[in-house]
Amino acid sequence: MKVSESGVLYEEAKRVLVGGVNSPVRAFTAVGGIPRFIRKARGSKLQDEDGNTYIDYVCSWGALILGSAHPRVVAALRGAIGRGTSYGAPTRVETELANLILDAVPSIQRIRFVNSGTEATMSALRVARAYTKRNRTLKFEGCYHGHSDSMLVKGGSGMATFGMPDSAGVTKESISDTIVAPYNDLNSVKTVFEQYPDDIAAVIIEPIAANMGLVPPMPNYLQGLRDITKKFGALLIFDEVITGFRASIGGAQKLYGIEPDLTCLGKIIGGGLPVGAYGGADEIMELLSPIGPVYQAGTLSGNPLAMTAGIVTLRELRKRGFYDELKEVSARLERGLLGAAEEASVSVRLTRVGSMLGLFFTGEPVIDYQRVKSSDVHAYATVFSSMLEQGVYFPPSPFETLFVSAAHTQRDIERTVGAARVAFQQVRKHREH
Ligand SMILES: *Cc1c(COP(=O)(O)O)cnc(C)c1O
Repeated sequence: MKVSESGVLYEEAKRVLVGGVNSPVRAFTAVGGIPRFIRKARGSKLQDEDGNTYIDYVCSWGALILGSAHPRVVAALRGAIGRGTSYGAPTRVETELANLILDAVPSIQRIRFVNSGTEATMSALRVARAYTKRNRTLKFEGCYHGHSDSMLVKGGSGMATFGMPDSAGVTKESISDTIVAPYNDLNSVKTVFEQYPDDIAAVIIEPIAANMGLVPPMPNYLQGLRDITKKFGALLIFDEVITGFRASIGGAQKLYGIEPDLTCLGKIIGGGLPVGAYGGADEIMELLSPIGPVYQAGTLSGNPLAMTAGIVTLRELRKRGFYDELKEVSARLERGLLGAAEEASVSVRLTRVGSMLGLFFTGEPVIDYQRVKSSDVHAYATVFSSMLEQGVYFPPSPFETLFVSAAHTQRDIERTVGAARVAFQQVRKHREH
């Protein structure tokens, strides 16, 4: 595979962009190799600047549930762009997208659009603190809630603990109100609440963890969190930036039948344009300015292009059978990958919820960050590189989720599974040496 053009572009990029990229994982640091510079994308395929095409399982980190350049999204954007790209004033498309979201997610009575998932979680936490008049937040190890200071923290091993910052430049003070507990462990949550019964404003969680690979919640875990937060008067925030309109039309909360107090959205609701949103009960959301005392604003918030792409995308998702078909194609991929690993005698754990898949090289069930970490990252890197060479673009990190879109065909899956057979054999060979 020729990648010289990407190589040249990467060198040029590094001279002006930090590390050559604008988001770290794109640099392929965890898997090695030259990051592919993408020229264009259509449906399930990416094409790089050397002309190589790849079946795309990143899908812009889950945002592209319809695949790239969906004809209806493109047509709507063409129409919208001629009417101006931003006004800094209200538009009808904001209300229209809000209505589509509220219809699908009943726990949201009132919503606010922002420009990223990071802003959505940061602002939801601010509202939660104002509403409860409490300061502390409980988050879970391995869950990602964007890069705002208070969320850039991981936990100590196993036990619930006050975290240390994950990033230089984040002060101890800015994370001093963040408590971290292991995922899928209700007892540790109980312990935290017994220690701080009146101090915790909110528990924030990815209801299906999708930023440490894919780790689904154990049975009754989310219900347990709902019960504990109710009991102690804390809010439950579902960060559904990935799972919203992905796990089901109503997100993970609909799939598992749990109503959070606040929900954060992003990715899919922007149809591939920059967007985020947070919402919940009127009583809580009305604390926001201009009605209430909690300040939050955005120059480009509710951007007409992002709203337009979101509206068209969500309309497609409402079509009958959409999620069933997506699930079927994804299940076929899951079976194929498992078969390929078995053929090569490489032990893997595959997790899947709908069209999200996690691929771990471990013999243990993956239920929390500790166990995720036991996955063989070298094996993942081998598979990643082999797949890429064969025209399949898996996420360039062992701890990310694979996404299937509605544009992925049976033929794409067959080709992917064929490539995986070769890739898993390479893992075995490496291990034999
Ligand atoms: C992507 C993501 C975010 C951050 O969204 P950005 O738009 O990248 O700021 C927050 N939470 C979850 C669960 C995410 O997957």
